[in-house]
Amino acid sequence: MLDLLVKNGYLVCPDGIKQASLAVKDGKIVDYDGTGSSTDVKNIVDAKGCYILPGAIDDHVHFNDPGYTWRDDFPHASRAAARGGITTVIDMPMQNLPAVSTAQILQKKVAYLSGRSFVDFALWGALIRTNRPHLKGLSEAGAAAFKCFMSEPSDDYTALWPREIADRLRLLRPLGALAGFHCEDYHLLKSGERACLQAGKKSRKDVLDVHSVMAEKRAVQELIGILRQTGGRVHICHVSHPDVAAVIKRAQQQGLHVTAETCLHYLVLTDQAYLKRGPLFKCAPPLRSKAASQALWRYIEDGTISTIASDHSPCKLEEKDESGPKGAFGAWGGLSGVQTTLQGFWNLAVHEHEASPLLVAKVLAENPAKIFGLWGRKGALLPGFDADFVLLDAQRDWEIKAKQLEYLNKFSAFVGLTGQGLPVATYLRGQCIYEDGSFPAAPQGKFVLAKGHPVV
Ligand SMILES: [Zn+2]
Repeated sequence: MLDLLVKNGYLVCPDGIKQASLAVKDGKIVDYDGTGSSTDVKNIVDAKGCYILPGAIDDHVHFNDPGYTWRDDFPHASRAAARGGITTVIDMPMQNLPAVSTAQILQKKVAYLSGRSFVDFALWGALIRTNRPHLKGLSEAGAAAFKCFMSEPSDDYTALWPREIADRLRLLRPLGALAGFHCEDYHLLKSGERACLQAGKKSRKDVLDVHSVMAEKRAVQELIGILRQTGGRVHICHVSHPDVAAVIKRAQQQGLHVTAETCLHYLVLTDQAYLKRGPLFKCAPPLRSKAASQALWRYIEDGTISTIASDHSPCKLEEKDESGPKGAFGAWGGLSGVQTTLQGFWNLAVHEHEASPLLVAKVLAENPAKIFGLWGRKGALLPGFDADFVLLDAQRDWEIKAKQLEYLNKFSAFVGLTGQGLPVATYLRGQCIYEDGSFPAAPQGKFVLAKGHPVV
């Protein structure tokens, strides 16, 4: 007997869109049979008129838990993910107390998160100066990737110098492990900010000038140069500009294993919003020009950029304050977006660019699953995979409103954005975890141990 049969929807499968039924047993997808009768099924869902997408995977979130939980926490942020059609998040190791730098800390975090998450989760491990001896253990404990900064991050985390990056890539290579990088040039940022502050320049425009496209591009070029020497696999986080994507494309054409992510905010928001509307729109790398934002699209279409993430990086409203001694430089840089990434990207891709829903499934489920070692369980509507899926009503108009946000701190740069196509129900391993504004199940998200690390 089947547990669940989802009928009358359009299934977005890796090999095409099918009008068929999705059959679920014991939390797994059994088949698309289209023949299951109501007599041998426990539960039937009528998905009439909806697309059924594989549950989205947000490969870059900061849920800050355990750690900086005044910014957000797993119970809130994972509810937001469920509401937004995201069934797996890959959570970052910083803004955690302590940072996830050893296998033991990772295992503690997994145990702590039991019963706190509405969606499944995988974890990034830290790649910092002090944890070289722990990288193998972290990888074996199931870290999906390792996060490294080329610019100075927050106080609780250290950046690596180029020779240290080379050393760590050599160490990670035989493990098949992936290293993900925040690419902005350390020296350009450091000296630029110092010079600005000494000259009394601390406006938003000064922040944009320091966090230049050149600073991002130079860091990516340097990293690719290192990768050329060491081999291994790197993932460039939050690519903000087409000039940066062009550098990555050339490296890919030369056969280097480099993948890239961008975020919805680089595609639908611009530097003008930051300049005019303020620090709610501050992030790093910063928002770029409208022309740059539009030109980034073709690198998603051609596959240079293979994943879309939220980089959900919340804070308290007070942390966005620009009135301190460092002015705009002192405001927290980060946007909250895990809840609204799928609907925002669907609208951009399917309505504005007339792309196929297949592209949405590829960059928000299939590619992140393959890159982060979750493929085979997550990332597609295929027999044997976890029954993680989203019912999306393509006709539903929406406007993002603060009161609908499930975050601990209910504000976001995306408030006011409008579009068409909204997740109306989300299923995790065959269980409904979100439906039309309500959350019918207790938090039952599990840790997904990353493995395999195939290269796409
Ligand atoms: Zn981040």
